[in-house]
Amino acid sequence: RTTAPTSIVVFGGTGDLAKRKLFPAFFNLFIDEWMPKQFQILALGRKQYTQEGFRAYVLENLKEFSRNNNYTEEQWMSFSEKITFLNFDITDENSFLNLNDKLTAFDVACNKRTNRLFYLSVAPSFIDKVSVNLHKTGLASNIEKDRIIIEKPFGYDKASAIALNKLLNENFKEEQIYRIDHYLGKETVQNILAFRFANTVFEPLWSNRHIESVQITVAEQVGVEDRGGYYDHSGALRDMIQNHLLQILCMVAMDAPVEFESALIRDKKAEILKAVRRIKPEDINHYTVRAQYTEGVIKGDAKQGYRQEPGVDPNSNTETFVAMKFYIDNPRWQGVPFYMRTGKSMEQKKSSVVVNFKDVPNKTFVNGRNNPVPNQLTINIQPEMDIRLSFMAKKPGLDMTLNPVEMVFDYFECAPDSPEAYETLLIDALDGDSTLFMRSDQVEEAWDIIATIQEEWENGTYSPMHTYAAGSWGPAAADELLSRQGHRWLSTT
Ligand code: NAD
Repeated sequence: RTTAPTSIVVFGGTGDLAKRKLFPAFFNLFIDEWMPKQFQILALGRKQYTQEGFRAYVLENLKEFSRNNNYTEEQWMSFSEKITFLNFDITDENSFLNLNDKLTAFDVACNKRTNRLFYLSVAPSFIDKVSVNLHKTGLASNIEKDRIIIEKPFGYDKASAIALNKLLNENFKEEQIYRIDHYLGKETVQNILAFRFANTVFEPLWSNRHIESVQITVAEQVGVEDRGGYYDHSGALRDMIQNHLLQILCMVAMDAPVEFESALIRDKKAEILKAVRRIKPEDINHYTVRAQYTEGVIKGDAKQGYRQEPGVDPNSNTETFVAMKFYIDNPRWQGVPFYMRTGKSMEQKKSSVVVNFKDVPNKTFVNGRNNPVPNQLTINIQPEMDIRLSFMAKKPGLDMTLNPVEMVFDYFECAPDSPEAYETLLIDALDGDSTLFMRSDQVEEAWDIIATIQEEWENGTYSPMHTYAAGSWGPAAADELLSRQGHRWLSTT
């Protein structure tokens, strides 16, 4: 782990992400002794704070958002001393000169050119200004030591993603750029690679020879809450499928890298995205379902419909739910449907991958009493964090009656207080390990996969907007998408 003294610069240090995720993550890393011995956090924002006032604000947020509230006053004091608030205007070059003074002073105190981690936790419209000014002032010019973290969304469509990558690559080297998708930092997502490639027993089954279909679900129980204005210009396809779900797909479907090495792993993921079959405009209605939630009941409370949410256009055509079917055109996955679905205001919060194996190939136990259920492997990502393998077993008793049973590996039992995704990703970025971050080609491929769907949904005539009651598992059309092939969603039970 890195021991290099580091300056962490949070653009947007007074924003929502910094408050809920970044400061708690840095603090927990500090308590658990993962941070370098010498570091400073420069929190930049437009608000006016005294140093004491800002530290008090951070402490207040830690109490609310940190996974761990078991720390001493002394730990907090030594962490808080490392935080400096800097009133900052991204559009003003003088602010960058002021920042330079702080960075240089830290270098002098450490007696060396320290590492620098610039976290761009600001609206996408500011990335341009920050990048150009960082480049102009030379603050991030050391390719080995200086890193830039970029938050999603990485563009709005393929063209804007290419433009964003071009802008970043004009100002930094690709190896300095860390595009964060917090799903990749989740224990259960990282474990997919360990599960597949550090065992002998699963990988030989991991292909169209034995697998009937794969399902990826990322269901949220919350609606758009106070982000209606933002969400109405985004929607589930852009906000979830393009990044989180396609990244999970890569973990499930990629081939084994020769070594656990960033470039090799990212190459294998990019290969999968390239191999995902593009859907033709006239087939979009056959392969995809889009829907909006209408009023309903969630956990006993009445929930209003999407079009009635504050900030949402009452005639909005933005989808809050997507279900779709992908094929991957490579020898391993030829013919296997990958179903994906994601939505807001659904019955439960649940992210999972379900791998459905083929029917048992012999008829030994197909008789009046028994009919073996195909094996099923479920990887629960959140809120449950476990892996479940279902298989048939003989029911204890005198006759040969079979029952499906489960083997379970439960993360919570092993590590009830495991690190948050942001902790994992921040320590990797501090360490210069980009394995779990997205490379420019992955981002562009992912946009390319959904490009025709975006166009068709915006301008085309093939795809109706379905509805589903808030608190349900989505529209009936999402079930029909699977039942046409004799399948059904399996993570709803
Ligand atoms: P936010 O609106 O809460 O915060 C924006 C920050 O930018 C504030 O600190 C503000 O002071 C600063 N800022 C705005 N104009 C500025 C200027 N001219 N000069 C200096 N600073 C300025 O936003 P957020 O929710 O924290 O999101 C930050 C980024 O993270 C966005 O790109 C967002 O898409 C992404 N993101 C956020 C979340 C989340 O949970 N909040 C999740 C995923 C991605």
